[in-house]
Amino acid sequence: MKSTKDLKQLIDEPACSHNKKEKSGCAKPKPGATAGGCSFDGAQIALLPIADVAHIVHGPIACAGNSWDNRGTRSSGSKLFRLGMTTDLTQEDVIMGRGEKRLFHSIKQAIQSYHPAAVFVYNTCVPALTGDDIDAICKAAAENFGTPVVPVDCAGFYGTKNLGNRIAGEAMMKHVVGTREPEPLPANSYREGIKVHDVNLVGEYNIAGEFWNVLPLLDELGLRVLCTLSGDARFHEVQTMHRAEATMMVCSKAMLNVARKMEDTYGIPWFEGSFYGISDTSQALRDFARLLKDPDLTERVEKLIAREEARIRAELDLWRERMKGKRVLLYTGGVKSWSVVSALQDLGMVVVATGTKKSTEEDKERIREIMGENTKMIDDGSPKALLGVYKEYQADILIAGGRNLYTAMKAKIPFLDINQEREFGYAGYQGMLELVRQLALTIESPIWSAVRSAAPWKTAA
Ligand code: SF4
Repeated sequence: MKSTKDLKQLIDEPACSHNKKEKSGCAKPKPGATAGGCSFDGAQIALLPIADVAHIVHGPIACAGNSWDNRGTRSSGSKLFRLGMTTDLTQEDVIMGRGEKRLFHSIKQAIQSYHPAAVFVYNTCVPALTGDDIDAICKAAAENFGTPVVPVDCAGFYGTKNLGNRIAGEAMMKHVVGTREPEPLPANSYREGIKVHDVNLVGEYNIAGEFWNVLPLLDELGLRVLCTLSGDARFHEVQTMHRAEATMMVCSKAMLNVARKMEDTYGIPWFEGSFYGISDTSQALRDFARLLKDPDLTERVEKLIAREEARIRAELDLWRERMKGKRVLLYTGGVKSWSVVSALQDLGMVVVATGTKKSTEEDKERIREIMGENTKMIDDGSPKALLGVYKEYQADILIAGGRNLYTAMKAKIPFLDINQEREFGYAGYQGMLELVRQLALTIESPIWSAVRSAAPWKTAA
């Protein structure tokens, strides 16, 4: 079980702007904090997309059931990560002290049945309280079966989902990153006259396959992605992250400790960016060029941006007239509270208010920059409050996470899912086309006039 000192170090991440504020700081665990997802949930969200790993949840079966597959992350190959594995601890196992034995046999079964690249073992509340030594079991299993077995000590009661993300990042830094060398670059690092640079992305989950909108652009620029932690990643890619020349923290502060430690340990510079919206996508490409200090790359980035922006704006023009002036109530968290605003503004839409419950002061500052000083920020995400703002500001659509779906359905208002459960990818230039298509389909659907009118049997004479 993690010590209080270890947990405090993770909570007090020096690269996190929350911690620079004397009073606020990062959210400390408090009663009820796990209602939005516990540390185990956060750790599994962060690592589950590593596709060729057997992910074993050491604990009662409900922990695995609560969190499995709660993101629509996609893999281009191995589907092993989609198999839910758990030691399924029962009351008898706890009374008889059989937790460690069950874990060892579960690891053995996973390796013999599926031959994974590695096994990740997630600790949960019950074995943390009974004192199972998961580090020792993982070490013994790795030696016995010749497959890497990584302990992720993330018992739910340690704290919030965000803390779990950091615990996951720490486990990768401690046990995986730096344990293998990447494939050699082409001769003299040049491919067809272009210098190839190795880069990482941290916090990109390839939801609905959206990173595949961006990958061809990076490839064209000669940016070889050593690893995306963790969308569509493979275990051997995580092992090689230490050789990157630059890291992008994508849309999330959750695994900030990985980017910061990579800089401290391996001297890899990093920046925070987003692939939502035309301007943010272009900015992310420029930031790569800035960190890599390659004048030829800078020139090629500008050419690519000019070409792609012209292409996508021409394609969006066909939709812009339909979406122009439509009013949006956006209720999402963190970085998306501003990165999606700029995407919607690119489409000529008006964001009447945005949710800031999970946003940092820095996020709020960005919102003010984009939307103006007097912008409406919503902290209260209750159905009553959301519908009140929707009505008061005469919005045409609510864009929010899946848990608000039923609020919208009951109120008979157009709704688009923007969070991790979404089924469509909105990243990159190409993602803007998908976003505008989904917005138009939702706002213009004939269903709204049908459900808002009186039922035929009530109007029949
Ligand atoms: S790890 Fe703990 S808090 Fe999280 S789901 Fe399991 S029992 Fe609940």
